Amino acid sequence: MAKVKSEVNEQLCVSCGCCLKVCPKEAIEVKNGMYARVDENLCIGCGKCVVECPASVIEGQHPKKQNRIRFEKWYDYLWIFSIVYFALGFFNIIFAWLGMICFITPLLFAIFKGNKGFCNRYCDRGQLLGLIGGRIGLSRKKDIPKWLASKAFRYGFLIFFFAMFFVMLWNTYLVFAGAKSLTQAITVLWTINVPWMWAYHGNVIAPWVSQFAFGFYSVMLTSTILGLATMILFKPRSWCVYCPMGTMTQAICKVENKIKNR
Ligand code: SF4
Ligand code: SF4
Repeated sequence: MAKVKSEVNEQLCVSCGCCLKVCPKEAIEVKNGMYARVDENLCIGCGKCVVECPASVIEGQHPKKQNRIRFEKWYDYLWIFSIVYFALGFFNIIFAWLGMICFITPLLFAIFKGNKGFCNRYCDRGQLLGLIGGRIGLSRKKDIPKWLASKAFRYGFLIFFFAMFFVMLWNTYLVFAGAKSLTQAITVLWTINVPWMWAYHGNVIAPWVSQFAFGFYSVMLTSTILGLATMILFKPRSWCVYCPMGTMTQAICKVENKIKNR
């Protein structure tokens, strides 16, 4: 009997690119950062992509063996950046500014290249979740609930996330303007203030620069905690389904594509 070939529901695909990492035939392509598509001439119906897809939007048969994410290219090891980032920020908060790389690079890919190259290849956080949840096996590997992958939730979370980001920027401005003193704390999950004064090393740098660093480290830590929680509960890279940067860059790619095709 012929093997069932895999097929992506393009309407629901979040263009995270997790399926690319497991396909042994390189039969999948993420089209202009908008959705993945399977080349049925290359697909052998192994079903590896079906189990890997964190949004559960690929139809096909399930494989008999566990997936193994490939570590072949230099960028497959960028998960190390996540670990180094949190370690450096733990000892010196100024290093939190390095997180801007993960903020600006996906936008540059989307705006200037019209794709989600960062999510699909270089995202250190996605790789770390794939490693801990997939390779090490700390994930239950269950399907994500439909509401968590819905457009309403993804865009709602994007708006909420950026509202919180602007609150963080506002606090930075207040410190810059001298209306508020520096808070040497990390805010976890937007609510819990954890004292972090050991990571602040004096007055050489302007207080607002440190305030931004504390705020940005809070954002990075909060999103990593959410990523780890959904990694354990659902598939390893479930965070990629509702990651605000992933949602935003997919939206940018869709708009760019519409303009191009006018
Ligand atoms: S949601 Fe991600 S893993 Fe699933 S088909 Fe789309 S790009 Fe592939
Ligand atoms: S079923 Fe196997 S060969 Fe086909 S697209 Fe999925 S991973 Fe690739």
